[in-house]
Amino acid sequence: MPDARNLDAPHPDAYPHANNAPPHAPEQAPVYQPTETIIVDDRVVSCDGGIGGLGHPRVWLRIVQDSKLCPYCSRLYVLAAGAGDSDAH
Ligand SMILES: [Zn+2]
Repeated sequence: MPDARNLDAPHPDAYPHANNAPPHAPEQAPVYQPTETIIVDDRVVSCDGGIGGLGHPRVWLRIVQDSKLCPYCSRLYVLAAGAGDSDAH
């Protein structure tokens, strides 16, 4: 019987050695600084990212205390002084 040697097997040296990988730089957590501060006189505001060019689906934000940061575009909505007390009318 002839020798049934498989000569098409992949060479064992075909695997690349990844022993020179660059060190992974630690990712810095994003700092949420307000891009814009908007004074409003209503506790409920809508934001769609609008003018800045970024834009995002319109969301409604409710200012619970005295300011609310839009999670999409990082606009800071600040309740105007004296506003909010006339909520129940
Ligand atoms: Zn927004």
